[in-house]
Amino acid sequence: MNTANRIFNFSAGPSMLPLPVLEQAKREMVNYQGCGMSVMEMSHRSKEFKAIIERAEQDLRDLMDIPDSYKVLFLQGGGSLQFSMIPLNLFHKSKKADFIITGSWAKKAAQEAAKFGEVNILASSEEDTFTYIPQVEPEKFSKDADYCYITYNNTIYGTRYTKIPDTGDVPLVSDLSSMILSEELDLTKFGLVFAGAQKNIGPAGVTIVIIREDLIGLASQEIPTMLNYQIHAKHGSLYNTPPCYAIYMAGLTFQWIKEQGGVSAMQKINEEKAALLYGTIDNSSMFRCPVAEKDRSLMNVVFVTGDEVLDKKFIAQAKAEGLMNLGGHRTVGGMRASIYNAMPMKGVQTLVNFMIKFERENI
Ligand SMILES: *Cc1c(COP(=O)(O)O)cnc(C)c1O
Repeated sequence: MNTANRIFNFSAGPSMLPLPVLEQAKREMVNYQGCGMSVMEMSHRSKEFKAIIERAEQDLRDLMDIPDSYKVLFLQGGGSLQFSMIPLNLFHKSKKADFIITGSWAKKAAQEAAKFGEVNILASSEEDTFTYIPQVEPEKFSKDADYCYITYNNTIYGTRYTKIPDTGDVPLVSDLSSMILSEELDLTKFGLVFAGAQKNIGPAGVTIVIIREDLIGLASQEIPTMLNYQIHAKHGSLYNTPPCYAIYMAGLTFQWIKEQGGVSAMQKINEEKAALLYGTIDNSSMFRCPVAEKDRSLMNVVFVTGDEVLDKKFIAQAKAEGLMNLGGHRTVGGMRASIYNAMPMKGVQTLVNFMIKFERENI
């Protein structure tokens, strides 16, 4: 435990936030920078809030090196609403989209897209419980698809892409919910990316969409106004009341990441944390990681003992040591340690020490 009596929270989301971010929010809670009120009480049209949202966007642009030809939108509805907004906005010519199915989130996105157009599944790793990322040869991508969709990091199964698929002229769309800002990414390879904030950015309630300008305005004008990217882009995410406080919190996290040295510095720490944890699993005779080595996630580390009773005992004893939420997703069981940007190296070290001790006591 640290000085604020905080546990190490390995939850997949909502998840740990950096302590300095929470402390700053606490200091500013009832009187934001001398304006006499909380950010929660402020008009979204006030000059104070305008400064908050503009700075958040600029800091995100700096951190992710977002080209000027892309818009940044702060929306609501979570990652899941994007499963609907993407087909509603991007289906316009062939009304066809390619999907690579690497887990439940990709599947849900494909099911939603299939309500509005034709979904072409290029590959799936479902037959192997999504333990790897399927390779797709460039010639397999449809030339006439309106977009191609991937889930970059698979939160539940602990896999991630390490190479961005080459879809040629077809816009690549990716769900970055559980990896945004954790490693460097060349955004020019994508037409649209999105992420719900509650994994690696801030509290639930805001979803970030980064969209190339030529993909805005393709939607039929019959789609609901609130689901049209063009409306949100035109109004700078202020068409209606945005999730003001969640945007403020996200902005604090962006400032914190900048102070840490930016995304490249986060990536370096994330690689060190993941290497320590995977190394411990690989060196153990009790724990095993089911995921193909080349596709292992830096953010969600999945592991099992192979014995469900032992898994449960591990999770319960870890909890008693302040190592919380290590249970795997309810659909897969086992263990999962989500080690997002806000999880300090100390948390992973504490977990690894506990794993070694647990193994010694339970063989
Ligand atoms: C959590 C998650 C989602 C769903 O996000 P909501 O904001 O709950 O809708 C979608 N995709 C991925 C990869 C996720 O990890």
